[in-house]
Amino acid sequence: MFRTHTCGELRLSDAGKTVTLSGWVQRARDLGGMTFVDLRDRYGITQLSFNTERNKALCEEARQLGREFVVQAEGLVRERESKNNNIPTGEVELIVTDLKVLNGAKTPPFTIEEETDGGDELRMKYRYLDLRRNPVRKGLELRHRMAIEVRNYLSQQNFLEVETPVLIKSTPEGARDFVVPSRMNQGEFYALPQSPQTFKQLLMVAGLDRYFQIVKCFRDEDLRADRQPEFTQIDCEMAFVEQDDILNTFEGLAKHLFRTVLGKDFTEPFLRMPFDEAMRDYGCDKPDLRFGMKFHELNDLAQQGRFKVFDEAELVVGINAEGCANWSRKQTDALIDFVKRPQIGATGIVFVKWTEEGLKSTVDKFYAPEDLQRWAHRFGMKEGDLLCIMAGKADKTRKQLNELRLHLGDLLGLRDPWTFKPLWVVDFPLLEKDEESGRWHAMHHPFTAPKPEDAQKLFDQKDPGSVRANAYDLVINGTEIGGGSIRIHDRAMQEAMFRVLGFTDEDARYKFGFLMDAFEFGAPPHGGAAFGFDRWVSLFGGRSDIREFIAFPKNNAGRDTMIDAPSRIDEIQLKELGIRSV
Ligand code: ASP
Repeated sequence: MFRTHTCGELRLSDAGKTVTLSGWVQRARDLGGMTFVDLRDRYGITQLSFNTERNKALCEEARQLGREFVVQAEGLVRERESKNNNIPTGEVELIVTDLKVLNGAKTPPFTIEEETDGGDELRMKYRYLDLRRNPVRKGLELRHRMAIEVRNYLSQQNFLEVETPVLIKSTPEGARDFVVPSRMNQGEFYALPQSPQTFKQLLMVAGLDRYFQIVKCFRDEDLRADRQPEFTQIDCEMAFVEQDDILNTFEGLAKHLFRTVLGKDFTEPFLRMPFDEAMRDYGCDKPDLRFGMKFHELNDLAQQGRFKVFDEAELVVGINAEGCANWSRKQTDALIDFVKRPQIGATGIVFVKWTEEGLKSTVDKFYAPEDLQRWAHRFGMKEGDLLCIMAGKADKTRKQLNELRLHLGDLLGLRDPWTFKPLWVVDFPLLEKDEESGRWHAMHHPFTAPKPEDAQKLFDQKDPGSVRANAYDLVINGTEIGGGSIRIHDRAMQEAMFRVLGFTDEDARYKFGFLMDAFEFGAPPHGGAAFGFDRWVSLFGGRSDIREFIAFPKNNAGRDTMIDAPSRIDEIQLKELGIRSV
């Protein structure tokens, strides 16, 4: 038997017992006649104690132990003289009577402690060592707990977990596909699912009524801290539902997770904010509601033929940074530098501050004090506040001001990771226009239904931009946690949608004929949603890098540096697949 207990288990009440532990050497301390070894496993750390007087040979062996050696120790549990209150096993130690080295270890390339000296690259290359560290392991434990609670809740709600295939045909979710060549069908390719979208809809046609799956999805797109080429979704679909049924069901899921995993009770219904309002008030479709700083527009008050920058702008819009009137020139200049960064691309900010001396702005020479007062009134500004105003093309300016708002939120400490502000953003437009190509794209995906009252416009191909969808996103703290929609379940409507998106009828049939055929065999009205599981876990873990919550993530170049993938394959393999690499 390798062990009678884990390294996290022994307490004072175990004193006097003879036990066996197995684990890794975290650290060995040699204090002359005494040697102490911290033995670690997934569950904790227990101190092993050796004494020359008791057993010289054993003490000598203990001295030879290196970091991360795998050892087995038998001994007597004893109350410690100097207790360590920082760990649950800190009141006891093991007086070792027998020690066995099960395996040696090279010196690890970084320290395996709470805080490590290893950089990202090293940690990823030796991820199996990184995973021995508490914070990373805790991330995986959180992930496990959340997966269980997702299954608990959804099972209670009659959802069936059904697996869908991984070797499929392209399902467009707005990214590129990863493709897999077929040896048996040379020249043809599978696509890995960007999501199980079409399959879950087919499961509704099949009468399964409620489906879910915690499932890997694959999207070939540029990576960021909250994106991985393969990631996990909680994917769900329901038949015979309207938007409200879906929102209520998954609001229930979110509340269940908040309660069971974080011990937070949300009794109030989540806010539901129309897309247009989110864009108008926060300049983005995933507003962070942990703080205010709502946008207010100033076109009517600021465009008076005196200040060209404002007069010529499509939009003049600002936010009120409460309590920032006393910011130094250096601080406000830093804000300007922030919005001038190429990623944001604004030209500047107009400031209005309200100090003891009254209202003062950086455009005083163009505006009278009464003008500034009117502006201040619109923002509900008080003494001590600082208005930040930006101007330019409407969409761009909103985006830029959104960045500034979030930046100010960070600077002012208003984005505490343990405060949670969930909301649903609803009434998304069905389509958006790609300015470059002039083509319409599905804002969510091509299977999303128009609102019934807007449906005719789709058939007439009239003003597609004004068609709204029963599509919704769950947003928490400025992060899109998931989204979904009511689907099209009617062939003619699906064909009309593909036409608006620029598919020829033939192309639509080639790619999605199977789904449209299914719609002709009694497809029930249905809808659903999918939630980014990695993101949700990282939100609950209080850190924004989703890689911290994935056992073996890829780096920013889409590589797994540990196994060195992607990598070349043999000529023979290529030949079998009928592929030549150029
Ligand atoms: N398939 C969608 C996605 O991956 C979610 C949904 O519409 O249910 O975003």
